[in-house]
Amino acid sequence: MTSAFASVPGIAAIPGLVHGFERRAPGVPAERREAARLRVTAARSRQGRVFFLTQVHGAAVARAPWDGAPEADASFATGPGVLLAIETADCLPVLFVDPVRRAVAAAHAGWRGTASGVAAAALRALVDSGSRLEDVRAALGPAIGACCYEVGEEVRSALGPDLAHCFRLADGGRGRPHLDLRAANRAQLEAAGLAPPAISDLDECTRCRADLYHSWRRDGPAAGRMIHVVGFAR
Ligand SMILES: [Zn+2]
Repeated sequence: MTSAFASVPGIAAIPGLVHGFERRAPGVPAERREAARLRVTAARSRQGRVFFLTQVHGAAVARAPWDGAPEADASFATGPGVLLAIETADCLPVLFVDPVRRAVAAAHAGWRGTASGVAAAALRALVDSGSRLEDVRAALGPAIGACCYEVGEEVRSALGPDLAHCFRLADGGRGRPHLDLRAANRAQLEAAGLAPPAISDLDECTRCRADLYHSWRRDGPAAGRMIHVVGFAR
């Protein structure tokens, strides 16, 4: 099976960087999770080893390399040949690169992870490991857009007043709230110290773009996953 990867302008030209937001192969049904992992692992084997997480919608950050698949929703790595994977099907993948230190981080942010500040936690781990905040660039990948992401009031409460501007009300203000996950994570990263130009964005809705992406909201429990990767080649 072939698959394509999308990049964003802010990190596309960094020498030695291996990265991409995965797009599904047209017309191919969803793969089983393990088959998709094996396919990506094989495709990247000359560049490094791919490290997968057991994603649990939290804010724990794991330092790669590791054995097995630790329960965490973010990761970071400071050596070559260590490729971090994030799996999504509507949630927002966030990739971080420090081109000076050649270090990387990644995060998986649905509404629960966003409420826990998972992307900012990944950024903090990268900085705590030695990166300078001003060197770090972030890339927000494909996720369900505010167009499609209707949520309950509990989500608005969980994200709190600082992110109230990331909700829109359908039907001229009478309908249920829609969350802009991308705007919420961008706001958190800016609050954590990233300058707006350091954050690039692939502004595509996974639910709208059935031709490019899997979507849990659209396809249900049988939805496939995109596997996004970031790291420096060995
Ligand atoms: Zn949409």
